[in-house]
Amino acid sequence: MSIEKNLLVVQEKIRLAAERAGRDVSEITLIGVTKTHPVEPMRELIDLGIIELGENKAQEVRDKYPELDREAHWHFIGHLQKNKVKYVIDKVDMIHSVESNSLAKEISKRAITLEKVMPILVEVNVSGEESKHGLKPEEVNDFLTEIENLEGIKVCGLMTMAPNYDDIEKTRPIFKGLKTLFDELNEMGRKLDVLSMGMSNDYTIAIEEGATHVRVGNAILGKRDYMK
Ligand SMILES: *Cc1c(COP(=O)(O)O)cnc(C)c1O
Repeated sequence: MSIEKNLLVVQEKIRLAAERAGRDVSEITLIGVTKTHPVEPMRELIDLGIIELGENKAQEVRDKYPELDREAHWHFIGHLQKNKVKYVIDKVDMIHSVESNSLAKEISKRAITLEKVMPILVEVNVSGEESKHGLKPEEVNDFLTEIENLEGIKVCGLMTMAPNYDDIEKTRPIFKGLKTLFDELNEMGRKLDVLSMGMSNDYTIAIEEGATHVRVGNAILGKRDYMK
């Protein structure tokens, strides 16, 4: 397994998916999901030009951040507990998984203390699967209204995770659903420009359906070993 070879394959598939959708490939940001991996492959990825990194555990961000001697943009993509915001607020460049008023408030409060504005995405559970985090699509507009006056955060867009289907075509309606919501909210005057959807299994479909950010781990870094 070579990270460089895997990355070239993923980048080519991204290019082809964009082409099929008539989109400019420069509209799509590849986030390398480095969760569970040590900093060495993270360095390799950065040296190959991938400086957007995805992590899903506050503790892991806290441990790896000081070790990584490279410029990078850290994306927090996992479920974030309120009491862990303090560990990531000064390290990450975007939080993809905001799904409650209390979490938005905590991020706001901590960001104000640091005199920064944290870009956030609202996580939406498009599939309706019980095990998935996120708001129902029909709840998102009211939620945006509830948090729109909070200082220290900037809502940049929406995020979703599709279920892990064997037939990846089944993810298409989910990505289409998030894109439709995104367009409707923008037509209502919201200013959203980030649509974070698509993982190793389904990023090509997500790009065909409008993803601006894809979060790809295994397809680049190889299978995760959760025992480590
Ligand atoms: C782990 C994870 C990914 C990447 O998954 P892969 O299948 O390794 O590409 C993307 N998004 C979120 C929210 C994740 O937790």
